[in-house]
Amino acid sequence: MKRTVGQLASMCGVARKGGRPEDMISGIMTDSRLAGSGELFVPLVGDRFDGHDYVEQAVASGAKAIMWQRGREIPAALAHLPFLLVKDTLEGLQTLAAAYRSELMARVIGITGSNGKTTTKDMTAALLGTQYTVLKTEGNLNNHIGLPLTILKMDEDTEVAVLEMGMSGFGEIELLTKIAQPDVAIITNIGEAHMLQLGSRSGIAKAKLEITAGLGEGGILLFNGDEPLLHEGLKSTYLPEGITLRTFGLDRGNEWSADHIALEPDGSTFSARYKDTDTGMEKLHISTPGRHNISNALAAIAAARVFGVKAENIALGFQGLKLTGMRIEPSKAYNGATILNDAYNANPTAVRAAIDLVSGLGGFGRRWIVLGDMLDLGPEEASLHREIGEYISEGKAEAVITFGPLSALTSEAAASQLPQAAEAGYVRHFEDKQELMNWVREQLQPEDLVLVKGSRGMQMEQVVQALEKR
Ligand code: ATP
Ligand code: MG
Repeated sequence: MKRTVGQLASMCGVARKGGRPEDMISGIMTDSRLAGSGELFVPLVGDRFDGHDYVEQAVASGAKAIMWQRGREIPAALAHLPFLLVKDTLEGLQTLAAAYRSELMARVIGITGSNGKTTTKDMTAALLGTQYTVLKTEGNLNNHIGLPLTILKMDEDTEVAVLEMGMSGFGEIELLTKIAQPDVAIITNIGEAHMLQLGSRSGIAKAKLEITAGLGEGGILLFNGDEPLLHEGLKSTYLPEGITLRTFGLDRGNEWSADHIALEPDGSTFSARYKDTDTGMEKLHISTPGRHNISNALAAIAAARVFGVKAENIALGFQGLKLTGMRIEPSKAYNGATILNDAYNANPTAVRAAIDLVSGLGGFGRRWIVLGDMLDLGPEEASLHREIGEYISEGKAEAVITFGPLSALTSEAAASQLPQAAEAGYVRHFEDKQELMNWVREQLQPEDLVLVKGSRGMQMEQVVQALEKR
Protein backbone atom coordinates (compact mmCIF):
# COMPACT_ATOMS: atom_id res chain seq x y z
CA MET A 1 0.00 0.00 0.00
CA LYS A 2 1.17 3.50 -0.77
CA ARG A 3 -0.47 6.48 0.91
CA THR A 4 0.68 9.80 2.32
CA VAL A 5 0.59 10.49 6.03
CA GLY A 6 -2.24 12.95 5.43
CA GLN A 7 -4.26 10.35 3.53
CA LEU A 8 -3.73 7.76 6.27
CA ALA A 9 -4.91 10.21 8.91
CA SER A 10 -8.09 10.95 7.01
CA MET A 11 -8.69 7.24 6.29
CA CYS A 12 -8.55 6.62 10.03
CA GLY A 13 -10.54 9.79 10.68
CA VAL A 14 -7.99 10.99 13.23
CA ALA A 15 -5.67 13.88 13.92
CA ARG A 16 -1.97 13.88 13.08
CA LYS A 17 0.76 15.22 15.32
CA GLY A 18 4.21 16.00 13.92
CA GLY A 19 5.70 15.22 10.52
CA ARG A 20 4.44 16.44 7.17
CA PRO A 21 1.16 15.35 5.57
CA GLU A 22 2.81 14.77 2.19
CA ASP A 23 5.30 12.19 3.51
CA MET A 24 4.85 8.93 1.61
CA ILE A 25 4.23 5.71 3.59
CA SER A 26 4.88 2.36 1.96
CA GLY A 27 2.99 -0.13 4.09
CA ILE A 28 1.93 -1.17 7.57
CA MET A 29 3.91 -3.06 10.17
CA THR A 30 2.94 -4.37 13.58
CA ASP A 31 6.15 -6.20 14.40
CA SER A 32 8.79 -3.67 15.42
CA ARG A 33 11.62 -6.08 14.55
CA LEU A 34 10.74 -6.53 10.91
CA ALA A 35 13.01 -4.28 8.99
CA GLY A 36 11.12 -2.12 6.58
CA SER A 37 11.48 1.12 4.81
CA GLY A 38 9.00 3.84 5.30
CA GLU A 39 6.13 2.00 6.94
CA LEU A 40 3.45 3.04 9.40
CA PHE A 41 4.08 1.21 12.68
CA VAL A 42 0.89 0.09 14.43
CA PRO A 43 1.69 -0.88 18.04
CA LEU A 44 -0.85 -3.48 19.14
CA VAL A 45 -1.54 -4.11 22.80
CA GLY A 46 -1.66 -7.75 23.89
CA ASP A 47 -1.98 -9.54 27.23
CA ARG A 48 1.74 -9.86 27.67
CA PHE A 49 3.16 -7.14 25.48
CA ASP A 50 2.47 -3.58 24.48
CA GLY A 51 3.72 -2.52 21.06
CA HIS A 52 4.03 1.08 22.26
CA ASP A 53 7.06 -0.02 24.27
CA TYR A 54 8.85 -0.98 21.06
CA VAL A 55 8.34 2.19 19.06
CA GLU A 56 12.05 3.15 19.13
CA GLN A 57 12.94 -0.25 17.73
CA ALA A 58 10.30 0.12 15.02
CA VAL A 59 11.73 3.48 13.98
CA ALA A 60 15.23 2.00 14.00
CA SER A 61 14.01 -0.72 11.62
CA GLY A 62 12.59 1.84 9.22
CA ALA A 63 9.14 3.00 10.36
CA LYS A 64 8.43 6.55 9.15
CA ALA A 65 5.08 7.12 10.85
CA ILE A 66 3.39 5.80 13.96
CA MET A 67 -0.14 5.07 15.02
CA TRP A 68 -0.40 5.92 18.70
CA GLN A 69 -2.93 5.57 21.45
CA ARG A 70 -4.16 9.03 22.48
CA GLY A 71 -3.09 10.10 25.94
CA ARG A 72 0.16 8.15 25.96
CA GLU A 73 3.33 10.13 26.13
CA ILE A 74 5.20 10.36 22.83
CA PRO A 75 8.96 9.74 23.30
CA ALA A 76 10.67 13.13 22.91
CA ALA A 77 13.32 11.76 20.55
CA LEU A 78 10.59 10.74 18.07
CA ALA A 79 8.48 13.89 18.24
CA HIS A 80 9.59 14.96 14.74
CA LEU A 81 7.83 11.94 13.20
CA PRO A 82 4.15 11.91 12.23
CA PHE A 83 1.92 10.30 14.86
CA LEU A 84 -1.70 9.32 14.11
CA LEU A 85 -3.54 9.61 17.39
CA VAL A 86 -6.23 6.96 17.86
CA LYS A 87 -8.41 5.78 20.71
CA ASP A 88 -7.27 2.20 20.25
CA THR A 89 -4.61 0.91 17.88
CA LEU A 90 -6.42 -2.34 17.01
CA GLU A 91 -9.55 -0.40 16.08
CA GLY A 92 -7.33 2.03 14.19
CA LEU A 93 -5.84 -0.84 12.19
CA GLN A 94 -9.30 -2.19 11.39
CA THR A 95 -10.66 1.21 10.38
CA LEU A 96 -7.68 1.77 8.13
CA ALA A 97 -8.14 -1.64 6.47
CA ALA A 98 -11.85 -1.00 5.87
CA ALA A 99 -11.15 2.43 4.37
CA TYR A 100 -8.38 1.04 2.18
CA ARG A 101 -10.62 -1.79 0.99
CA SER A 102 -13.28 0.74 -0.08
CA GLU A 103 -10.76 2.70 -2.13
CA LEU A 104 -9.51 -0.30 -4.12
CA MET A 105 -10.96 -1.63 -7.36
CA ALA A 106 -10.16 -5.24 -6.35
CA ARG A 107 -12.95 -7.68 -5.69
CA VAL A 108 -13.00 -9.70 -2.48
CA ILE A 109 -14.07 -13.24 -1.60
CA GLY A 110 -14.65 -13.90 2.10
CA ILE A 111 -14.68 -17.48 3.40
CA THR A 112 -16.04 -18.70 6.71
CA GLY A 113 -17.37 -22.02 8.05
CA SER A 114 -16.52 -24.44 10.85
CA ASN A 115 -14.19 -26.57 8.74
CA GLY A 116 -12.55 -26.27 5.39
CA LYS A 117 -11.89 -22.50 5.35
CA THR A 118 -8.16 -22.70 4.68
CA THR A 119 -8.59 -25.52 2.18
CA THR A 120 -11.33 -23.66 0.30
CA LYS A 121 -9.33 -20.43 0.45
CA ASP A 122 -6.27 -22.10 -1.07
CA MET A 123 -8.37 -23.84 -3.73
CA THR A 124 -10.26 -20.67 -4.64
CA ALA A 125 -7.04 -18.66 -4.91
CA ALA A 126 -5.46 -21.38 -7.07
CA LEU A 127 -8.39 -21.38 -9.51
CA LEU A 128 -8.60 -17.59 -9.73
CA GLY A 129 -4.82 -17.37 -9.98
CA THR A 130 -5.01 -18.90 -13.47
CA GLN A 131 -6.62 -15.69 -14.78
CA TYR A 132 -6.19 -12.97 -12.16
CA THR A 133 -3.64 -11.40 -9.84
CA VAL A 134 -4.74 -12.84 -6.53
CA LEU A 135 -3.84 -12.08 -2.94
CA LYS A 136 -4.89 -14.61 -0.29
CA THR A 137 -4.75 -14.91 3.48
CA GLU A 138 -1.37 -16.36 4.34
CA GLY A 139 -1.65 -19.64 6.23
CA ASN A 140 -4.40 -19.27 8.78
CA LEU A 141 -4.21 -15.53 9.58
CA ASN A 142 -7.98 -15.27 9.71
CA ASN A 143 -8.75 -13.18 12.78
CA HIS A 144 -9.39 -9.54 13.75
CA ILE A 145 -5.69 -8.77 13.26
CA GLY A 146 -4.70 -11.09 10.41
CA LEU A 147 -7.59 -10.09 8.19
CA PRO A 148 -6.97 -6.31 8.28
CA LEU A 149 -3.25 -6.90 7.78
CA THR A 150 -3.96 -9.06 4.74
CA ILE A 151 -6.20 -6.37 3.27
CA LEU A 152 -3.49 -3.79 3.81
CA LYS A 153 -1.13 -5.96 1.76
CA MET A 154 -3.31 -5.54 -1.33
CA ASP A 155 -2.02 -3.11 -3.92
CA GLU A 156 -3.29 -1.43 -7.06
CA ASP A 157 -2.45 -4.60 -9.04
CA THR A 158 -4.50 -6.95 -6.87
CA GLU A 159 -7.56 -8.04 -8.84
CA VAL A 160 -9.08 -10.48 -6.34
CA ALA A 161 -8.41 -11.00 -2.64
CA VAL A 162 -9.41 -14.33 -1.07
CA LEU A 163 -9.78 -13.86 2.66
CA GLU A 164 -10.32 -16.45 5.38
CA MET A 165 -12.53 -15.40 8.28
CA GLY A 166 -12.36 -17.30 11.54
CA MET A 167 -14.24 -16.79 14.76
CA SER A 168 -14.95 -18.16 18.19
CA GLY A 169 -18.09 -16.25 19.15
CA PHE A 170 -20.96 -14.09 17.93
CA GLY A 171 -20.16 -10.73 16.36
CA GLU A 172 -16.68 -11.67 15.17
CA ILE A 173 -17.57 -12.58 11.59
CA GLU A 174 -19.74 -9.48 11.41
CA LEU A 175 -16.74 -7.34 12.33
CA LEU A 176 -14.51 -9.07 9.75
CA THR A 177 -17.05 -8.96 6.93
CA LYS A 178 -17.69 -5.26 7.49
CA ILE A 179 -13.98 -4.63 7.12
CA ALA A 180 -13.56 -6.88 4.08
CA GLN A 181 -16.84 -5.93 2.31
CA PRO A 182 -16.81 -9.13 0.22
CA ASP A 183 -18.37 -9.35 -3.22
CA VAL A 184 -18.69 -13.10 -2.76
CA ALA A 185 -19.14 -14.75 0.64
CA ILE A 186 -18.68 -18.50 1.15
CA ILE A 187 -19.86 -20.66 4.05
CA THR A 188 -18.08 -24.02 3.80
CA ASN A 189 -20.01 -25.95 6.43
CA ILE A 190 -21.40 -25.95 9.95
CA GLY A 191 -19.69 -28.20 12.47
CA GLU A 192 -19.39 -28.22 16.22
CA ALA A 193 -16.29 -26.07 16.74
CA HIS A 194 -16.88 -23.38 19.39
CA MET A 195 -20.06 -25.02 20.61
CA LEU A 196 -19.11 -23.76 24.07
CA GLN A 197 -19.41 -20.10 23.03
CA LEU A 198 -22.32 -20.48 20.60
CA GLY A 199 -24.56 -22.90 22.44
CA SER A 200 -25.77 -25.08 19.58
CA ARG A 201 -25.19 -25.95 15.95
CA SER A 202 -27.92 -23.53 14.93
CA GLY A 203 -26.11 -20.86 16.95
CA ILE A 204 -23.01 -21.69 14.93
CA ALA A 205 -24.98 -21.36 11.68
CA LYS A 206 -26.24 -17.98 12.81
CA ALA A 207 -22.74 -16.80 13.61
CA LYS A 208 -21.43 -17.89 10.17
CA LEU A 209 -24.35 -16.19 8.44
CA GLU A 210 -23.11 -12.91 9.88
CA ILE A 211 -20.85 -12.90 6.84
CA THR A 212 -23.80 -11.59 4.80
CA ALA A 213 -23.69 -8.30 6.75
CA GLY A 214 -20.72 -7.19 4.65
CA LEU A 215 -22.23 -8.00 1.26
CA GLY A 216 -23.35 -5.07 -0.82
CA GLU A 217 -25.72 -4.70 -3.75
CA GLY A 218 -24.99 -7.45 -6.28
CA GLY A 219 -23.22 -9.57 -3.65
CA ILE A 220 -23.35 -13.35 -3.77
CA LEU A 221 -23.61 -15.80 -0.91
CA LEU A 222 -22.36 -19.29 -1.78
CA PHE A 223 -23.27 -21.72 0.94
CA ASN A 224 -23.15 -25.42 1.64
CA GLY A 225 -26.64 -26.49 0.64
CA ASP A 226 -26.21 -29.89 2.31
CA GLU A 227 -26.57 -28.16 5.67
CA PRO A 228 -30.25 -27.73 6.66
CA LEU A 229 -29.31 -25.26 9.40
CA LEU A 230 -28.04 -22.79 6.81
CA HIS A 231 -31.30 -22.92 4.83
CA GLU A 232 -33.13 -22.54 8.12
CA GLY A 233 -30.88 -19.76 9.43
CA LEU A 234 -31.23 -17.78 6.21
CA LYS A 235 -34.97 -17.43 6.80
CA SER A 236 -34.28 -15.27 9.83
CA THR A 237 -31.19 -13.49 8.47
CA TYR A 238 -31.61 -9.93 7.29
CA LEU A 239 -30.15 -9.77 3.78
CA PRO A 240 -29.30 -6.47 2.16
CA GLU A 241 -31.14 -5.71 -1.10
CA GLY A 242 -29.89 -7.36 -4.30
CA ILE A 243 -28.06 -10.38 -2.86
CA THR A 244 -28.00 -13.68 -4.76
CA LEU A 245 -27.97 -17.00 -2.91
CA ARG A 246 -26.22 -19.99 -4.48
CA THR A 247 -25.67 -23.49 -3.14
CA PHE A 248 -22.95 -26.09 -3.53
CA GLY A 249 -22.56 -29.51 -1.96
CA LEU A 250 -22.55 -33.22 -2.54
CA ASP A 251 -26.33 -33.50 -2.74
CA ARG A 252 -27.62 -33.39 -6.31
CA GLY A 253 -30.21 -30.77 -5.32
CA ASN A 254 -27.51 -28.10 -5.00
CA GLU A 255 -26.74 -25.72 -7.86
CA TRP A 256 -23.14 -26.92 -7.87
CA SER A 257 -22.64 -30.61 -7.22
CA ALA A 258 -20.39 -33.48 -8.28
CA ASP A 259 -20.67 -36.87 -9.89
CA HIS A 260 -18.38 -39.67 -11.12
CA ILE A 261 -16.65 -39.38 -7.77
CA ALA A 262 -13.60 -41.60 -7.25
CA LEU A 263 -11.98 -41.44 -3.82
CA GLU A 264 -8.33 -42.41 -3.41
CA PRO A 265 -6.04 -42.11 -0.38
CA ASP A 266 -4.08 -39.32 -1.99
CA GLY A 267 -6.91 -37.37 -3.58
CA SER A 268 -10.16 -37.57 -5.50
CA THR A 269 -11.45 -37.29 -9.02
CA PHE A 270 -14.90 -35.97 -9.90
CA SER A 271 -16.93 -34.05 -12.47
CA ALA A 272 -18.52 -30.75 -11.58
CA ARG A 273 -22.18 -30.25 -12.39
CA TYR A 274 -24.13 -27.01 -12.50
CA LYS A 275 -27.86 -27.53 -11.90
CA ASP A 276 -28.52 -30.43 -14.22
CA THR A 277 -26.03 -29.58 -16.87
CA ASP A 278 -22.56 -30.86 -17.66
CA THR A 279 -20.06 -28.10 -17.23
CA GLY A 280 -17.27 -29.55 -19.30
CA MET A 281 -15.34 -29.97 -16.08
CA GLU A 282 -14.78 -33.70 -16.18
CA LYS A 283 -12.21 -35.73 -14.28
CA LEU A 284 -11.09 -32.89 -12.08
CA HIS A 285 -8.41 -34.12 -9.74
CA ILE A 286 -7.76 -32.70 -6.28
CA SER A 287 -4.81 -33.83 -4.23
CA THR A 288 -6.60 -33.71 -0.87
CA PRO A 289 -8.61 -36.82 -0.08
CA GLY A 290 -12.10 -37.15 1.34
CA ARG A 291 -15.61 -36.28 0.24
CA HIS A 292 -15.54 -33.12 2.32
CA ASN A 293 -12.75 -31.79 0.12
CA ILE A 294 -14.91 -32.30 -2.96
CA SER A 295 -17.43 -30.08 -1.22
CA ASN A 296 -14.68 -27.50 -0.60
CA ALA A 297 -13.61 -27.80 -4.25
CA LEU A 298 -17.20 -27.18 -5.40
CA ALA A 299 -17.29 -23.97 -3.35
CA ALA A 300 -14.05 -22.89 -5.02
CA ILE A 301 -15.37 -23.76 -8.48
CA ALA A 302 -18.61 -21.90 -7.86
CA ALA A 303 -16.64 -18.82 -6.79
CA ALA A 304 -14.26 -19.07 -9.73
CA ARG A 305 -17.18 -19.26 -12.16
CA VAL A 306 -18.63 -16.05 -10.71
CA PHE A 307 -15.40 -14.47 -11.95
CA GLY A 308 -15.61 -16.21 -15.30
CA VAL A 309 -12.69 -18.61 -14.84
CA LYS A 310 -12.68 -20.99 -17.82
CA ALA A 311 -13.31 -24.72 -17.41
CA GLU A 312 -9.82 -25.65 -18.62
CA ASN A 313 -8.25 -23.24 -16.17
CA ILE A 314 -10.17 -24.80 -13.32
CA ALA A 315 -8.57 -28.17 -14.08
CA LEU A 316 -5.16 -26.45 -14.29
CA GLY A 317 -5.69 -24.56 -11.06
CA PHE A 318 -6.37 -27.75 -9.11
CA GLN A 319 -3.25 -29.34 -10.61
CA GLY A 320 -1.00 -26.60 -9.31
CA LEU A 321 -2.48 -26.53 -5.85
CA LYS A 322 -0.34 -26.86 -2.73
CA LEU A 323 -2.20 -27.01 0.52
CA THR A 324 -1.16 -25.96 4.00
CA GLY A 325 0.35 -28.82 6.05
CA MET A 326 -1.35 -31.43 8.20
CA ARG A 327 -4.69 -31.47 6.35
CA ILE A 328 -4.95 -35.21 5.74
CA GLU A 329 -1.46 -35.62 4.42
CA PRO A 330 -0.65 -39.07 3.15
CA SER A 331 2.74 -40.45 4.13
CA LYS A 332 4.48 -43.80 4.61
CA ALA A 333 5.13 -45.61 7.87
CA TYR A 334 8.54 -47.15 8.56
CA ASN A 335 7.32 -50.46 7.13
CA GLY A 336 5.49 -49.07 4.10
CA ALA A 337 2.01 -48.82 5.65
CA THR A 338 -0.01 -45.78 4.51
CA ILE A 339 -0.54 -43.00 7.05
CA LEU A 340 -3.16 -40.28 6.70
CA ASN A 341 -1.98 -37.44 8.90
CA ASP A 342 -4.99 -35.34 9.93
CA ALA A 343 -3.50 -34.27 13.24
CA TYR A 344 -3.96 -30.56 12.59
CA ASN A 345 -7.29 -30.37 14.37
CA ALA A 346 -10.48 -32.24 15.21
CA ASN A 347 -14.13 -31.75 15.99
CA PRO A 348 -17.05 -34.15 15.49
CA THR A 349 -17.89 -33.14 11.91
CA ALA A 350 -14.28 -33.30 10.80
CA VAL A 351 -13.70 -36.61 12.58
CA ARG A 352 -16.76 -38.14 10.93
CA ALA A 353 -15.57 -36.84 7.55
CA ALA A 354 -12.19 -38.48 8.16
CA ILE A 355 -13.83 -41.76 9.21
CA ASP A 356 -15.92 -41.68 6.02
CA LEU A 357 -12.76 -41.18 4.05
CA VAL A 358 -11.02 -44.17 5.63
CA SER A 359 -14.06 -46.43 5.44
CA GLY A 360 -14.55 -45.57 1.76
CA LEU A 361 -11.02 -46.55 0.75
CA GLY A 362 -10.51 -50.07 -0.58
CA GLY A 363 -7.38 -52.08 -1.26
CA PHE A 364 -5.84 -51.88 2.18
CA GLY A 365 -5.14 -54.51 4.79
CA ARG A 366 -6.52 -53.26 8.07
CA ARG A 367 -7.86 -49.73 8.42
CA TRP A 368 -6.77 -48.09 11.67
CA ILE A 369 -8.45 -45.06 13.22
CA VAL A 370 -6.21 -43.41 15.80
CA LEU A 371 -7.96 -40.59 17.65
CA GLY A 372 -6.96 -38.07 20.28
CA ASP A 373 -9.47 -35.96 22.22
CA MET A 374 -11.57 -33.27 20.54
CA LEU A 375 -11.11 -30.21 22.78
CA ASP A 376 -13.29 -27.14 23.51
CA LEU A 377 -16.62 -28.81 22.84
CA GLY A 378 -18.36 -27.55 25.96
CA PRO A 379 -20.85 -29.40 28.18
CA GLU A 380 -21.74 -31.91 25.47
CA GLU A 381 -18.17 -33.14 25.15
CA ALA A 382 -18.74 -36.58 26.71
CA SER A 383 -21.67 -37.49 24.48
CA LEU A 384 -19.95 -36.06 21.38
CA HIS A 385 -17.00 -38.38 22.03
CA ARG A 386 -19.29 -41.34 22.61
CA GLU A 387 -21.14 -40.59 19.35
CA ILE A 388 -17.88 -40.80 17.42
CA GLY A 389 -17.39 -44.32 18.76
CA GLU A 390 -20.96 -45.20 17.76
CA TYR A 391 -20.31 -43.78 14.30
CA ILE A 392 -17.53 -46.33 13.69
CA SER A 393 -19.89 -49.14 12.80
CA GLU A 394 -19.01 -52.60 11.49
CA GLY A 395 -17.16 -52.51 8.19
CA LYS A 396 -15.78 -48.98 8.59
CA ALA A 397 -12.49 -49.88 10.29
CA GLU A 398 -10.59 -52.83 11.69
CA ALA A 399 -8.85 -51.04 14.55
CA VAL A 400 -9.76 -48.06 16.75
CA ILE A 401 -7.04 -46.68 19.00
CA THR A 402 -7.64 -43.73 21.30
CA PHE A 403 -5.66 -41.38 23.50
CA GLY A 404 -6.82 -38.81 26.07
CA PRO A 405 -9.43 -38.87 28.85
CA LEU A 406 -12.44 -38.02 26.64
CA SER A 407 -11.48 -40.46 23.91
CA ALA A 408 -11.82 -43.29 26.42
CA LEU A 409 -15.58 -42.84 25.81
CA THR A 410 -15.07 -43.09 22.03
CA SER A 411 -13.20 -46.31 22.58
CA GLU A 412 -15.91 -47.74 24.83
CA ALA A 413 -18.63 -46.98 22.29
CA ALA A 414 -16.56 -48.30 19.40
CA ALA A 415 -15.98 -51.56 21.25
CA SER A 416 -19.68 -52.37 21.17
CA GLN A 417 -19.86 -51.45 17.45
CA LEU A 418 -16.92 -53.66 16.52
CA PRO A 419 -17.19 -56.68 18.81
CA GLN A 420 -14.77 -58.81 16.77
CA ALA A 421 -12.04 -56.22 16.68
CA ALA A 422 -12.59 -55.49 20.36
CA GLU A 423 -12.35 -59.19 21.19
CA ALA A 424 -9.04 -59.36 19.32
CA GLY A 425 -7.74 -56.34 21.26
CA TYR A 426 -7.90 -53.86 18.37
CA VAL A 427 -10.24 -51.41 20.01
CA ARG A 428 -7.88 -50.06 22.57
CA HIS A 429 -7.51 -46.99 24.75
CA PHE A 430 -4.17 -45.68 25.95
CA GLU A 431 -3.49 -43.30 28.81
CA ASP A 432 0.09 -42.93 27.69
CA LYS A 433 0.96 -41.70 24.21
CA GLN A 434 4.36 -43.38 24.14
CA GLU A 435 2.77 -46.74 24.91
CA LEU A 436 0.22 -46.15 22.16
CA MET A 437 2.96 -45.38 19.65
CA ASN A 438 5.01 -48.44 20.60
CA TRP A 439 2.03 -50.73 20.39
CA VAL A 440 0.73 -49.47 17.04
CA ARG A 441 4.25 -49.60 15.56
CA GLU A 442 4.56 -53.22 16.60
CA GLN A 443 1.18 -54.26 15.27
CA LEU A 444 1.20 -52.35 11.99
CA GLN A 445 1.39 -54.40 8.77
CA PRO A 446 2.84 -52.95 5.53
CA GLU A 447 -0.52 -53.10 3.71
CA ASP A 448 -2.41 -51.26 6.49
CA LEU A 449 -3.92 -47.76 6.37
CA VAL A 450 -3.75 -45.53 9.47
CA LEU A 451 -5.71 -42.34 10.06
CA VAL A 452 -4.33 -40.14 12.85
CA LYS A 453 -6.50 -37.28 14.09
CA GLY A 454 -7.04 -35.16 17.20
CA SER A 455 -7.35 -31.58 18.40
CA ARG A 456 -4.28 -29.36 18.04
CA GLY A 457 -3.57 -29.55 21.76
CA MET A 458 -3.35 -33.36 21.64
CA GLN A 459 -0.30 -33.20 19.35
CA MET A 460 -1.22 -36.38 17.54
CA GLU A 461 1.41 -35.61 14.90
CA GLN A 462 3.84 -37.19 17.39
CA VAL A 463 2.13 -40.49 16.63
CA VAL A 464 2.62 -39.90 12.91
CA GLN A 465 6.30 -39.11 13.46
CA ALA A 466 6.77 -42.23 15.58
CA LEU A 467 5.19 -44.41 12.90
CA GLU A 468 7.25 -42.82 10.13
CA LYS A 469 10.58 -43.19 11.92
CA ARG A 470 12.75 -45.91 10.43
P1 ATP B 1 -9.30 -23.52 11.21
O1 ATP B 1 -10.54 -23.20 11.97
O2 ATP B 1 -8.29 -24.24 12.03
O3 ATP B 1 -8.74 -22.36 10.46
P2 ATP B 1 -10.29 -24.42 8.66
O4 ATP B 1 -11.74 -24.15 8.67
O5 ATP B 1 -9.40 -23.46 7.96
O6 ATP B 1 -9.74 -24.67 10.13
P3 ATP B 1 -9.02 -26.50 7.12
O7 ATP B 1 -7.72 -26.14 7.70
O8 ATP B 1 -9.26 -26.26 5.70
O9 ATP B 1 -10.17 -25.88 7.99
O10 ATP B 1 -9.30 -28.04 7.41
C1 ATP B 1 -9.12 -28.57 8.73
C2 ATP B 1 -9.72 -29.94 8.85
O11 ATP B 1 -11.15 -29.86 8.76
C3 ATP B 1 -9.36 -30.90 7.71
O12 ATP B 1 -8.21 -31.61 7.99
C4 ATP B 1 -10.54 -31.82 7.64
O13 ATP B 1 -10.41 -32.85 8.59
C5 ATP B 1 -11.69 -30.98 8.09
N1 ATP B 1 -12.52 -30.47 6.97
C6 ATP B 1 -12.12 -29.71 5.93
N2 ATP B 1 -13.13 -29.38 5.14
C7 ATP B 1 -14.24 -29.93 5.68
C8 ATP B 1 -15.62 -29.94 5.32
N3 ATP B 1 -16.07 -29.29 4.24
N4 ATP B 1 -16.46 -30.64 6.11
C9 ATP B 1 -16.01 -31.29 7.21
N5 ATP B 1 -14.73 -31.32 7.60
C10 ATP B 1 -13.84 -30.66 6.85
MG1 MG C 1 -8.01 -22.20 8.68
